[in-house]
Amino acid sequence: MTTYNFAAGPAVLPHEVLEKVQKELLNFNNSNMSILEISHRSALYQDVYKDAKKRILALMKLSADEYDVLFLGGGATLQFTMLPLNIANKHHKAAYINTGHWSKRAIAEAKKIPGLTVDTVASSENKDGTFTTIPKFPDLPEDTYDYLHITTNNTIMGSAYYDLPETSTPLVADMSSNFLGQEYPFDKFDLIYAGAQKNLAPAGLTLVILKKSHLGQVEGLPDMLDYTAQSKKESALNTPPVFQVYVADLVLKWLEEKGGVAQIAKENKHKADLLYDYLDNSKLFKNNVDPACRSLMNVPFVTGNKDLDAKFVKEATEAGLLNLKGHRLVGGMRASIYNAMTYEGVKVLCAFLQKFEAENK
Ligand SMILES: *Cc1c(COP(=O)(O)O)cnc(C)c1O
Repeated sequence: MTTYNFAAGPAVLPHEVLEKVQKELLNFNNSNMSILEISHRSALYQDVYKDAKKRILALMKLSADEYDVLFLGGGATLQFTMLPLNIANKHHKAAYINTGHWSKRAIAEAKKIPGLTVDTVASSENKDGTFTTIPKFPDLPEDTYDYLHITTNNTIMGSAYYDLPETSTPLVADMSSNFLGQEYPFDKFDLIYAGAQKNLAPAGLTLVILKKSHLGQVEGLPDMLDYTAQSKKESALNTPPVFQVYVADLVLKWLEEKGGVAQIAKENKHKADLLYDYLDNSKLFKNNVDPACRSLMNVPFVTGNKDLDAKFVKEATEAGLLNLKGHRLVGGMRASIYNAMTYEGVKVLCAFLQKFEAENK
């Protein structure tokens, strides 16, 4: 049976990449060793690391003179802490826009940093705790905040930014769930971080892309939490996740061959439109997110009846449409349709939705 994986993360990887991994697994690059066995100090790994770094900057159209790329552990969640420790060093004040669960987590962790003032300068939280839109951007006073933090794609809520805040405050983003899946003017950001397991690689790797001007600004941080120390050691202060970086490099190459971010974003829009159009015309299923800021990557939907939702998830699973159960915070269903999800996969999902709707009038 053909199956399609709609998981939010860890998530689907390009089939071609998995086949290449399989083919090379026992003998990486004629070394007679597996990529799982090689040293992070070896030239074999150094080539992979340098290649991945170069590809990321090229895909984002960023200059290597201006930006550095760090390959870290600890997930996007560790960046909730590392970011303020490293970047909030002038005003000791940080501004956040709250657009959902992960924004809230970022805010809560920043608030634990001693001496840091954390202001939620805009929020789209509804009275009942749900989020269905992206808020209007506030006018921030100049030279007051060290950074403005946004979550570009709200994995659980199913919303995303299309326009970026116009601000003189350095813009930083948690881009975990639409990293290289939606087009942004990446040079508008001072720093972008992303857990790799949504749209790039297996879990265990986090990317931080940052302006080099932020390096060397803070002293006394523990090395592992220090962007400058990590940068100096080429992200190998401790043993880096060699396999994850290798898979990331293969996925980046795959993305380049597909035509880059602009092209995949176009395909992602095409996939998302197909699903949203179906949901908007459905009498049974519904997506509650403001159409102006619907995510290209994560599409939550409900029937309005918990038992029917459960029946849908069960029958979908039996039909090979996997991991459609919604996040426990919002219930219902969620289809994550990252870069590696094919148009065909979304078409099959829409056909199944239609069949289920006809059978459950
Ligand atoms: C999944 C996710 C996280 C958490 O990522 P970890 O790598 O598990 O720490 C943070 N932010 C967003 C937007 C996410 O989707």
